[in-house]
Amino acid sequence: MRILKNIYKKLFILVIIIFIAGMMNSCVDFNIYPPSEDIKLGKNLDSEIRRNTNEYPIYNKPGVKSYVQGIVNDIIRSPKMEYRGQFAYTVEIIKRDDIVNAFCAPGGYIYVYTGLLKFIDNEATLAGILAHEIAHAERRHATQRISKAYGMQLLSDAAFGEKKNKYEELGSNMFKGLSLLNNSREDEYEADEYSFKYLQSTKWYPGSIKFFFDKIKNSVQDNDLKVVLSTHPLPQDRYDKVIEMLKKANTPPPNEKNTQYRKYLLFKNNL
Ligand SMILES: [Zn+2]
Repeated sequence: MRILKNIYKKLFILVIIIFIAGMMNSCVDFNIYPPSEDIKLGKNLDSEIRRNTNEYPIYNKPGVKSYVQGIVNDIIRSPKMEYRGQFAYTVEIIKRDDIVNAFCAPGGYIYVYTGLLKFIDNEATLAGILAHEIAHAERRHATQRISKAYGMQLLSDAAFGEKKNKYEELGSNMFKGLSLLNNSREDEYEADEYSFKYLQSTKWYPGSIKFFFDKIKNSVQDNDLKVVLSTHPLPQDRYDKVIEMLKKANTPPPNEKNTQYRKYLLFKNNL
């Protein structure tokens, strides 16, 4: 009888955990950290990146960083921004032609690989990708993910005390296995959505991240693309959602003025 009672008790606790975890996950903005923690985390990550010159060789060719920074400065003027003035929103270019990627540390430290700059064809695409990266910082995805994983751990600890059991293990593995910059599918949808919103107040074609998706679709055999896809999962849904946003906003078709194709070609040739 006692064993049965214990099993019921554990089952009950488990149901509560699953319920609370579900609530945490469905609450998109669940975050136990203040924005100052994003800044602290980002600063630490930024110093680590700068120390690791083998993996992250900083590219100092005049004009390259300032060109990309100029695009970032235009994007963050968007009225949809929450942390402009608080987060850094600085750019560094990493000289790796073999990597088609960009990423953003919490607090707005943006890194762009030369491989990405060479891969794309117009300025609007770069603006779309940068706006997507800015969205990861603005929406505070990294500290949200840590909050959710840490919340699970706390729940598990509170429910099961010191006892070692598989639920507790699950919680701790989730926490240990957490990679700060690996974005979930939901984070990607949200970053695409905000990329669109931020670009709406700029000169660039909103939804221009679609050009990047098109390029990827046409180069699936390319091994470099695995790197992009590891930090930015790219299901067909992402593509479809951007198309939907473009339709809903009645967006006029792309042209030379809102893509800056020729200007970008000049920049690319001087990389
Ligand atoms: Zn992303």
